[in-house]
Amino acid sequence: MFRLVLLGPPGAGKGTQAVKIAEKYQIPHISTGDIFRKNVKEGTPLGKKAKEYMDKGELVPDKLVVELVTDRLDAADCKNGFLLDGFPRTVFQAEKLDQYLEVKGIALDKVIDISGDEEVLLERMIGRRVCRACGAPYHIKNMPPKEEGICDICGGEVYQRADDTEETVRNRFQVYQKQTMPLIAYYEKLANIIHIQSAGSPDTVFASIISVLGV
Ligand code: AMP
Repeated sequence: MFRLVLLGPPGAGKGTQAVKIAEKYQIPHISTGDIFRKNVKEGTPLGKKAKEYMDKGELVPDKLVVELVTDRLDAADCKNGFLLDGFPRTVFQAEKLDQYLEVKGIALDKVIDISGDEEVLLERMIGRRVCRACGAPYHIKNMPPKEEGICDICGGEVYQRADDTEETVRNRFQVYQKQTMPLIAYYEKLANIIHIQSAGSPDTVFASIISVLGV
């Protein structure tokens, strides 16, 4: 049973690791990015608002994010733990999450910070592709689907996210440095953060994570 947060710059492989961690420890994978993309796809009012920010590589305003996550955490499947991927992204969000957990009498077990060299991550992201249907991640060089453009898992369409273009990616890095990096110091104070280098294959990175969390 784990209550976890995954932190890291764009392209550090959070999504890939999140899928593996959630499967291994049988906890729900809660990705705010995925939730927003689903809303954009369905054309909901939230999706329409979020899209403006996402396409530019900016963060969606805090007030649109916090309630979304706390509502999700109230669901029954989060009773035995959860993995937050892409949330919190600002100190304000982290404070709100702490307040929520405190009221519930629970706490995060670990914050996993995956870090890496910016240029390497940039290349990773520009080559990144994702399944439109199930969200499975791919890379044109390192992890292509068996058949081009088609998801190995569900047969859905594999495409490039609008926010993975070079210009947007560079902006996302700046946004990460300015708004999300301060969270490392925030969680360092609470002494429950672990640092993992994103260099190496997804399996190597996953092995480092398991070695800390336990088998
Ligand atoms: P991700 O897939 O986690 O990289 O998220 C894609 C985009 O969704 C981000 O660039 C933001 O525009 C938005 N987003 C996801 N999570 C958050 C969050 N916790 N706070 C604000 N915006 C977010």
